[in-house]
Order: sequence, then C-alpha cells, then structure tokens
Amino acid sequence: MTFSQEVKRELCRIEPKQACCGWAQLYGMLLFSRTFPEEEQVFATESQRAAELFAQLAAGLAGAFVTVRTDPRTRLEGRYAVLIEDAGQRELLRERFGLGVPVLNPHFVEKDCCVAAFFRGIFLLYGSIVNPEREYHLELAAPDEFLAEETALLGRVRGFHWKQSRRKGVPLLYLKESGQIEDFLTFIGATKATLRLMDIKIVKGMRNKVNRATNCETANLDKTVEASRGQVADIAYIEKLRGLSYLGEDLRELARLRLENPECSLRELAGMLSPPLSRSGVNHRLKRIQQAAAELRAEEQKKSGV
Ligand SMILES: [Zn+2]
Repeated sequence: MTFSQEVKRELCRIEPKQACCGWAQLYGMLLFSRTFPEEEQVFATESQRAAELFAQLAAGLAGAFVTVRTDPRTRLEGRYAVLIEDAGQRELLRERFGLGVPVLNPHFVEKDCCVAAFFRGIFLLYGSIVNPEREYHLELAAPDEFLAEETALLGRVRGFHWKQSRRKGVPLLYLKESGQIEDFLTFIGATKATLRLMDIKIVKGMRNKVNRATNCETANLDKTVEASRGQVADIAYIEKLRGLSYLGEDLRELARLRLENPECSLRELAGMLSPPLSRSGVNHRLKRIQQAAAELRAEEQKKSGV
C-alpha cells in the first residue's frame, strides 16, 4: 500500500462530527469533480472505501442514488467509477450546492469543522501525497483555475500556504514543506499519518547527520594525510642528509614508523610505539623532528650560500 492509500484509508474511517461537516465533505467531493454535473460519472477512484463513503453521504444527506462500478473506461481491476446516473438528481445537487460558479459557497465552509471536512473530501478523491521517505509533496487536483485559487485562499486563512501549478493542463494546489504537510494531515484528521511522517522525518534527519559526520571524518582524514606528507618529507630529508641516527633515540623509532606508515593517524602511531605513547606525546615528538629538519635545512642553505 502506498503512503497515499494509507492516508486515505485512515480518512475513510472518520465519521463527520456533525451534519454540517457531512455536507461540507460532500460539497468538496462534488465541487472538485471535473465532470459533474454534466456527465454521469462523478469521479473514478482506486479506493472502494472512498467510493462507498461518497455514496453514503450523497444518499444519506441529499437522497441521491449513487452507482459504484469497476471503471468501464480503464477496465482495471480495483478502479471504481462512481456515478449519479439520473440527470434530475444531478441537477438538484448542483442547485443545492450552488455549483457551476467560479466561487466557493460560503454556506458550506463557514466553520472550522466544516473546512476540515471540505478539504478531507477533496483530498480523498482528488488528492495524493508522495511517500515522505522520497520527498515532501502533497497535492490536490482542481477542476479549474478559479476554484484552485478560491480553495487556496480558504486554506491560506488557516495557515496553509498552497502553491499552484499545472500538470497536463490540470490546475494543482500543492504543499512542499514537511511542517505544512503535517499540519494539513492533522487538520483533515489523518493524525496517524502525521505521526508516521514525523517519524520518517526524524529518521531522515539522523541519516543526514550521519552523512555529515562521515563528511567531517573525510575532512579530518584529508588533514591527517596533509600533515603526514610534511612529516614524511622532513624525515626523508634528515635520513638522506645525516641518517636517522642523527635523531635522538626517542625520536628514531617514531621516525621509522612514520616513514613506513604514512597513512596512519597520530593515535595509530602512538599505539605502535613501544612503550606506547599518548597522541599528544607523538605530536610533540613529530614537532621536534620537524624542528630538526628545519635546522638542517637552514644549515644547508647557509653552506650553499657561502
Ligand atoms: Zn461542521
């Protein structure tokens, strides 16, 4: 089951709190149809529950007779066409809701409870959400620009900043911000889905943190390599000029280990010494080697300068 289907399944279980909300939900379901009231088919859906819920609301509230059947256009298993076959009933519903004008009927979207039910109805039939593990994206497909704009405004009043676009000529309202999507899902009653989304977000955040930490380690590794290169150059210089015996006994073993293990960190070198030394002890000794090399270089320069 997709994330979208999960959300819809949860939404289908919600009983409208009051009659006003039932009307508001049915209003949203009819308003966003691209074929109602001209055609028999109001919408098609993959969710049998959503189809049944619409039939219940339309019959229970408005006395409309709804037919649900496997979509004859696609002939796909599990795709349901939802029809109001009687033209007279469709006309009555159109009148009842004041459909066919490019503005919302304020009567059905006055109260907060009704606005939530209105959006729930729209999302159930004309909405979708991308799996949040992939991307944060929730959208509603509107029947036309005007209703898209009106609906966006209705949402904006309640803090939902719908963005608008078009796909294949269909006007879309969408949310891209995870916080907005969480708020919207909660608003329309999909609280379980909200919790799932928050959970996914936390896991994603941790994964990013780990990735950042890994990048950090890589940066440190680069630094280690850079420092090691300088140390190896110094030791090789001393060895070439005077031999490693030039270095005091306490530095000699470390110098040899560094030459043999240029990729090792200071901590690793510290562990190889016998007896083992602390990291800062190794650092201190490497500084003394660096100092010795610098002195030798200065000496050589003086000689060649004379
Ligand atoms: Zn209500």
